[in-house]
This record gives sequence, C-alpha cells and structure tokens, in this order.
Amino acid sequence: MASSWLGGASLSTSGPAHRVINPATGAPVAELALATVADVDAAVASARAALRGWATATPADRSAVLAKLAELMEANAELFIAEEVSQTGKPVRLATEFDVPGSIDNVAFFAGAARHLEGKASGEYSADHTSSIRREAVGVVATITPWNYPLQMAIWKVIPALAAGCSVVIKPAELTPLTTLTLARIAKEAGLPDGVLNVLTGAGADVGSALAGHPGVDVVTFTGSTDVGRRVMAAAAVHGHRTQLELGGKAPFVVFSDADLDAAIQGAVAGSLINTGQDCTAATRAIVARDLYDDFVAGVAEVMSKIVVGDPFDADTDLGPLISAAHRDKVAAMVSRAPDEGGRIVTGGHVIARPGSFYAPTLIADVDENSEVYRNEIFGPVLTVRSFTDDDDALRQANDTEYGLAASAWTRDVYRAQRASREINAGCVWINDHIPIISEMPHGGVGASGFGKDMSDYSFEEYLTIKHVMSDITGVAEKAWHRTIFTKR
Ligand code: NAD
Repeated sequence: MASSWLGGASLSTSGPAHRVINPATGAPVAELALATVADVDAAVASARAALRGWATATPADRSAVLAKLAELMEANAELFIAEEVSQTGKPVRLATEFDVPGSIDNVAFFAGAARHLEGKASGEYSADHTSSIRREAVGVVATITPWNYPLQMAIWKVIPALAAGCSVVIKPAELTPLTTLTLARIAKEAGLPDGVLNVLTGAGADVGSALAGHPGVDVVTFTGSTDVGRRVMAAAAVHGHRTQLELGGKAPFVVFSDADLDAAIQGAVAGSLINTGQDCTAATRAIVARDLYDDFVAGVAEVMSKIVVGDPFDADTDLGPLISAAHRDKVAAMVSRAPDEGGRIVTGGHVIARPGSFYAPTLIADVDENSEVYRNEIFGPVLTVRSFTDDDDALRQANDTEYGLAASAWTRDVYRAQRASREINAGCVWINDHIPIISEMPHGGVGASGFGKDMSDYSFEEYLTIKHVMSDITGVAEKAWHRTIFTKR
C-alpha cells in the first residue's frame, strides 16, 4: 500500500493499516499502511545520500525549484484545499483563504530568500589573518508535525530547510498525512532531486520517536505539544543533536479600559475560534479591564451565538469539528469541570448533536487563576475571561503562564501598547489584532512554548551552521604566536 514517500517515489510500507478519518462525518477519506521503524533507517539513508548534491547546488538552482514548487502548488490549490478540509474538518474558507495561500506564499518567500544567504563580511580581526564566515547546510533534518495545520506546519519546517540546502525526512501527524504526501509528489514535479524530501506516515510512539532519536540526522525540528516536544528533545539529546521546538500556547488577550470594545469583541471571537480553537496562538485567556468586563462578556457571547457550525465544505460554515472524537471528549471533559473551579459558562459548553466531532463555541467567564481551563491548553473553541484592576495587574496576569507563544494587547494608548509589547513574555505580541502572520516575520515561542523560529530569514538559523575560516596572511613559517609555545627550533 503506497503510504510514504522515499527517494522520490511512493513507498509501500508494511506497518499497521491506518484510516484517515473526516472528523466532520466520521467517514474514512483514505486508507494507508503506516511506516515502520525500519523505514526510518531507509528514509534517513535516502536523505543522507541526496544531501551533498542538494547542499552544493547553487542558491539560484535551489531557488528555481522552490519557485516552480510555488507555481505548481498554485495550480494544485484545489487539491490541497480538498485534502486539507477532508482530513482536518476545517472550514473551506479557512483552507482557501489562509492555509493554502499562506503555504504558497511561504514557498515563494523562500525561493527569494534562498538567494540572499550571506556570511558576515570578512576582515582582519588578527593582524596576521583574514577571517570569513561560511554558512553551510546543517545536513539531514528530521521534522515532526502536528495535525492542526498539516500543510502549513510542513511548509514552515521543510521549505527553509530546503532553501538552506538541507535534505529532509518529515513525519506528519498520523491523523493528517495527505497534504504532506501531495507536497512531496509535487516537489518532485518541480524538480526537487529524489531523496531530498522524504515523508514517513507513521505513529508518533514508534516512527516519530525513532526519527527523533536517529543517529543519522543532524537536527530535529518539531511542532506539537509541549509534552511530546520535551520527549523529542530528550531523544535527540542522546546523540547531541540540535533541536527546534514549536510547542503549545495559552495566549493572553488583554483588553485595556481605553480599547475599542467592538474591535476587541470581534477580535476575541475570531482569535479564539479560528480552526475550531485548534491553533497554538489562539486567544484563550481574555484579561479585561473591570469597567469593560460585563460588556465584553455580553458582546463575545452574542457574536459566538451567531457562529455557523456545519459542513466544512459549505462556504457559509464558520466552525468545523474538532480533529477527532477523542479530542472532542477531552475538550468537553475540561469544560465540564470548569464550574467546579468557579468558572461560569456563559455560552456553549456542550457537544453539538450531529455526526462528527463538533463542539459549540464556548465562553467561560470569572475563571479562577489556578483553574484547569485557565492554565492548561484546551485546544478547542473555548475562551476564558478574567478581569484586572490596573495595568500592572493586567501584565502580571498575561505573564502568569508557563507558555510564551503569542499575546495581544487592545488599547488606543500608544504608551500602554509600547509597554505591553515590551513586558509581555511571548514570541509575538499583536497590538489591536490577534492571529495574523506573514512570511517575512518569524514565528516561535519562549518558555514552555519552545524555542527557535519558523518563517522569515530567522528560520535559516535552524538549518545552517556557521563556520569560521581563518587564513594566515603572513606567509611566514615561523609565526609570531609560535613563540608562546616554543622559543627555539
Ligand atoms: P502532539 O505533540 O500530540 O503530536 C505532534 C507530532 O508528534 C505528531 O506527528 C505525533 O505523531 C508526533 N509524536 C507523538 N508522540 C511522539 C513521540 N513520542 N516521539 C516523536 N514524535 C511523537 O501534538 P498534536 O496533538 O498533533 O498538535 C497539537 C499541539 O501542537 C498543541 O499543543 C499545539 O499548541 C501545538 N502546536 C504548536 C505550534 C507552534 O507553532 N508553536 C503550531 C501548531 C501546533
């Protein structure tokens, strides 16, 4: 059964049979065999064999392949959209206006950025030497991605690695492998040499951990939950391999008393419900000035009540299902425990009775700072709200989390905005907005949200090594510094 991609061709693997399920219906959309641990060895060997040719290709040649890939992805946009919606249940509007064009734009960005890789200017930092810096491909990259934005997460890891001259083995989440496989097939059509990009559709516990701990890779990049990310880092550490981790989030959404209330309400609904709340940067903790609190809660509840839940392929649908019945049950269980800890469910808080794993948009007010729904990642369409007394209290609450991926501050006061952007501990702080990303700018967190960057020129740092070349410019055999070691020959 063709289910992985290795050496530029489909690979029939012999692991357990696996069905990709449409979470909006519960119906299977594809059946494949998962990869095995033995396939990990083969995929790493394939990437290793292809590395030298790709790493020594000129930037212009690598750029041409990526530019062609962007063009072919555009031509295949409908296929990517159909696969992404079927395997994740995300609304077709989101896939059409965000996932797929965002992915294509990222490829186009790196097609350009591939030609801008430069070392620092060289110079004589010692009187007797010229120093220069070479930035070289780090080698074979192992990448493990989650199910929430399968195509975008694959693109964010794979494309800067390819632009830098690395070869890649990627393991997408077993729930959502389809668009990653299509990406690899189309990359070959774009001229990517065989073996430079390999896809293994295995489970995390065996194939994922074998890949993360494989001695033959040079760097391990991961997007997923904090718990698994730490396990991945431990596996990579056995060989001393570099890691880059994009992990969970619990983004604060701080509404100061001078904020445009209507904008904050719209932003909170959009920011918390995007991708059914299965977004690492989603607004999850609204922290609202006491004098706006009641109006904010009423306004968010009203907008949430108008959200259209339904068939993800219907262009009018705002909210699709959660990724699986198991995940829906986890979200439902967390929300059901919230009242025991003081939370007031203002709207939602229930499973939607229709086939598939749907859950209602949910607003929980008055949550306690120590409650589970306030502290832990829910990864569902759930926004919690608390009030604050003054700016110090607002910023204290915003930072009262182990996570640090994203945050937003809503204010018309430039000094407040500046202070929030300085003092909130996160990889991204939006002012009067929440969610937008752009290929030129980095994405990545601090603390339990991980380290390292996706997107933008900054992501190259994950895929390049820095080599210092120091050349003697005296031409003399008896160099001045030798006298430090010995005086006479
Ligand atoms: P997850 O951690 O369960 O799985 C992520 C990937 O790791 C999957 O491919 C899975 O098969 C694999 N995996 C599982 N166990 C493994 C192991 N022991 N060794 C190696 N690989 C293993 O995450 P998920 O449920 O797929 O995704 C949701 C999580 O991802 C959330 O926590 C979310 O915040 C996070 N996320 C973060 C970002 C970011 O940029 N920071 C982006 C998207 C999602």
